[in-house]
Amino acid sequence: MSTATLPDDLLLRERFGDIKPPLEPQAAVIEANRCLNCFDAPCTGACPTHIDVPGFIKRISTGNLRGSALRILDANILGASCAKACPVEVLCEGACVMHRYNHAPIQIARLQRYAMDSFEATGEELLTAPRGSRNVQVACIGGGPASLACAAELCRHGASATILERKDLLGGLNTYGVAEYKLRAADSLREAEMIRRMGVEFRTGAAIDTAEALEELESEFDFLFVGVGLGAMQRMNIPGEDQKGVLNALEFIASYKTGRLRELAGTVVVVGAGNTAIDAANAARRLGAETVYLLYRRGERDMSAFDFEYEHAKQEGVQFLWRRQPFAVRANERGRLLLDTVQVSEVDKALLPIPDSHYTIECDYVIPAIGQSPFAQLVQELRRIELRGGIIVTDPETGQTGNSRYFAGGDCANGGREVVDAVADGKRAARAILKIAEAAYA
Ligand code: SF4
Repeated sequence: MSTATLPDDLLLRERFGDIKPPLEPQAAVIEANRCLNCFDAPCTGACPTHIDVPGFIKRISTGNLRGSALRILDANILGASCAKACPVEVLCEGACVMHRYNHAPIQIARLQRYAMDSFEATGEELLTAPRGSRNVQVACIGGGPASLACAAELCRHGASATILERKDLLGGLNTYGVAEYKLRAADSLREAEMIRRMGVEFRTGAAIDTAEALEELESEFDFLFVGVGLGAMQRMNIPGEDQKGVLNALEFIASYKTGRLRELAGTVVVVGAGNTAIDAANAARRLGAETVYLLYRRGERDMSAFDFEYEHAKQEGVQFLWRRQPFAVRANERGRLLLDTVQVSEVDKALLPIPDSHYTIECDYVIPAIGQSPFAQLVQELRRIELRGGIIVTDPETGQTGNSRYFAGGDCANGGREVVDAVADGKRAARAILKIAEAAYA
């Protein structure tokens, strides 16, 4: 079964132009030649998938673009999307030695994108061992980056891997959740398609949410990798939050990325201050909202979004309302929303309302983006897999859970980190599974 595709939407392209546009060939070579090819390169150490950064950059400088891309893909099968979605400022580029000499860091992400774009343009297939040449069958539950990386790594080494995804499209947050100006859904789907062509089987529309469904998988497969991500955003738990116009942030981002939502007008209030909240606020601005507030119950220094994401949102014109908490949503006679808020102060870590500080924001949309609730309850209840704080507990070296047939990785096991962390988790689990299988069948 092939991955579904999305139309190449010109309107989306215009509104969500690349935040980091591709390098021209000459600029790429000049930039590659700036790299010092450091021994024990800190950039490689800072990458969760340990891409050989100086190695792939060197190949760009010598014109070996195919070799460069293969170097990236060896370490990170989602090298194309990570080049666009990674917060490189705090990873490889943040670790670049150029900072020590007061020079701009090497533009690793843009060079990586350059190599990956060139590889993709050739349409070349990746070589894998024949499917089934290793006698091990693995089900990867969830179709996001962790499962894609796990399945691809297994497949490369001849194991049979099948991804089960409840939605119609593969890619998880890369397709449905990463802001469009960072990564287009169509690019994520192309990457998933490359992995399908490697020999990974995709089963879409496959919800695994009952004991029977899990039992069937257990009888069909030797190992199960859980890469289900995190579930729906948490509710605000305030009266009126089911009003029309209150949109869950992940649903909102998925709606515009898949072309279901194309424009937004009026005033939007995003509740929360993590990276997803910032993505939602920026997207609301680009979709046409005149005024976008980001409302957070704590202060500027407490927000969990990266500093550069915060700066970006300010440039997009997002306005920030600190230490303000919503307590009700109402609708007025004109059909607009009224978000009742109160100023709070922090006393011994408790947030206390400040008297006479009520303020009602008249708006058109409220978008809660206040963390996500873990989905992993099911495997905990059915297979006695330990959860801590809603997150699946795994061995940090292997990704194996307390149930030896189950492995887990990505957001459901790390609590919600970057795409590149999910890729690293998936690859690590695949290698551990291959090792166990090799020992068992030796
Ligand atoms: Fe090149 Fe910077 Fe990595 Fe050194 S740290 S190898 S200069 S990218």
